Amino acid sequence: MKEVKSPKKPLIYYYVLVLAILFLFNLIVSPMLMRPQIDEVDYGTFMDMIEEKDVGVVEVTSTEITFTNKDNTQVYQTGAMYDPTLTERLHEAGATFDSVSDQGSPILSFLLSFVLPLAIFIGLGQYMSKKMMEQMGGKNSMSFGMGKSNARVYVQSSDGIRFSDVAGEDEAKENLAEIVDYLHNPKKYTDVGASMPKGVLLVGPPGTGKTMLAKAVAGEAGVPFFSMSGSEFVEMFVGMGASKVRDLFKQAKEKAPCIVFIDEIDAIGQKRNAGSGMGGNDEREQTLNQLLTEMDGFESNNGVIILAATNRPESLDPALTRPGRFDRRVPVELPDLAGREAILKVHARKIKTDGDVDFHTIARMAAGTSGAELANIINEAALRAVRAGRTVVTQADLEESIEVVIAGYQKKNAILSDQEKRVVAYHEIGHALVAALQTSSAPVQKITIIPRTSGALGYTMQVETADKNLLTKEELENKIATLTGGRAAEEVVFGQITTGASNDIEQATKLARAMITRYGMNDEFDMVAFETVNNQYLGGDTSLACSAETQQAIDRKVVALVKAQHAKARQLLEEHRAALDRLAQYLYEKETITGEEFMQLLRQTGQTPGQAAAIEGGAAQ
Ligand code: ADP
Ligand code: ZN
Repeated sequence: MKEVKSPKKPLIYYYVLVLAILFLFNLIVSPMLMRPQIDEVDYGTFMDMIEEKDVGVVEVTSTEITFTNKDNTQVYQTGAMYDPTLTERLHEAGATFDSVSDQGSPILSFLLSFVLPLAIFIGLGQYMSKKMMEQMGGKNSMSFGMGKSNARVYVQSSDGIRFSDVAGEDEAKENLAEIVDYLHNPKKYTDVGASMPKGVLLVGPPGTGKTMLAKAVAGEAGVPFFSMSGSEFVEMFVGMGASKVRDLFKQAKEKAPCIVFIDEIDAIGQKRNAGSGMGGNDEREQTLNQLLTEMDGFESNNGVIILAATNRPESLDPALTRPGRFDRRVPVELPDLAGREAILKVHARKIKTDGDVDFHTIARMAAGTSGAELANIINEAALRAVRAGRTVVTQADLEESIEVVIAGYQKKNAILSDQEKRVVAYHEIGHALVAALQTSSAPVQKITIIPRTSGALGYTMQVETADKNLLTKEELENKIATLTGGRAAEEVVFGQITTGASNDIEQATKLARAMITRYGMNDEFDMVAFETVNNQYLGGDTSLACSAETQQAIDRKVVALVKAQHAKARQLLEEHRAALDRLAQYLYEKETITGEEFMQLLRQTGQTPGQAAAIEGGAAQ
């Protein structure tokens, strides 16, 4: 383990610099300041002036003579010469004269030339270090002065958050309830000889309530809550992070029992030597080492429990997840339908709603959103109500704010030509109709051709009736067909294609690829996975591992799969051309239609829609 030095080095440099400047100041600047305006004259002038009795005060040192005229209005200076009769002549001239070893009052001179500049420099230094500290966050996290860290207080309020404030996430709460129980009654555990895990890792996508849960543990147990974000540890100076870790744990141990929460632990806990390169990660490594040392250095039953949150568990250094450190892992997943409804209700307590808001429907529409996004949806709806000058939030506010979160704000005065509007209407009805005509597709909730700031010219929102955990091969194929439905409609009606389908194409390709490389839904490759997901929480970042030939074969299969579904969609639309035209015309006129209107019209045209079921909700452009 490396010994971590406090930042003494820069400190010494700093003081050496101050001394050097002082020295220069004394040598050059100070004598210049001390002297009034002085006229250099030659010795002859001096003698002439004595003769004319035009000298006032005269000071003679070993090297120079400083004198003034009779009225004391001007100071002159000349070099000292061997002149034995000078005193006599000066006396005759009536001058006041003195032979001094140095000029001015010695005390004043000392004060001016040494003490004053020193005071100025120290003052300046203090000011600068304070400024620097403020910039680095934390008003008095470290006194720059003596290289010692003076207590920064890490303890935070847990905002009175309790488990009841965290909606859904029942598994996580159950798991953490044990820790609360331990903090309440440690004896129950030590009697049996059980020891609590020192560290608990909360793992899940951003905005799922990990910070809330950590605060709730502290809130429920009624213990202090120390919190710090991983990125805050990594500082400008090497060694600062480590000393912050030391500080944090020192305080935590004094306040035990307590909770220490480290957010974004991946910022310091990343695998060491992973892509570090120039050794520029010294600081992070030292910080991580210090954290590991601290964790090893205390017994779990002294009451300090460390909770940490991350959304990239796979990037953590194995040393962190070893037994005796963060040996418990609590998944905090995106909320399911019931969870979403519960979260919406928790946050809706803060706003005024009109009686008949249906949170179940809102929750269904908001598939795939996190707790933080749901909180945002509620707030957006409230803002919308205020903008409209209303005092309560309505169902329409909430539905619109979901669209805002999913697709961006409605684009004000977006200029869509008449022909473009017609194409977009057919495109969207293409998606909706293909979805409706297939069995096992999620029902259409809403279709709109009002452009959004996200760039979507329109979208079709499909909403699951229930959460889907398993998708069949057929359902996946239908999804792909639905995604190709927009482009298929353009082909069928206009005989030409547009750029409007780029997002559909991307999604269809992703799905088709996943079916072949990850879900084993292909006869030739059977249950062989060629692609693995790198991070289950942050996007679908995957890595491919297969031979070049297999890769080519995969590409061909992906193309064939999408092509087949595209052909199916086109055929469906050709067979139901009358319905396509009628619905597109209706959408063109109304710009936004609901799922019910859509189904009603579809039934009127004599078509029997397929059974509603699968397909993930969301925006298909
Ligand atoms: P994380 O730490 O997982 O990124 P946070 O705990 O900071 O997420 O959550 C951000 C915000 O989202 C919270 O302040 C809260 O308003 C809301 N939120 C997230 N999950 C929930 C939940 N399960 N219940 C209630 N609110 C939640
Ligand atoms: Zn589309």
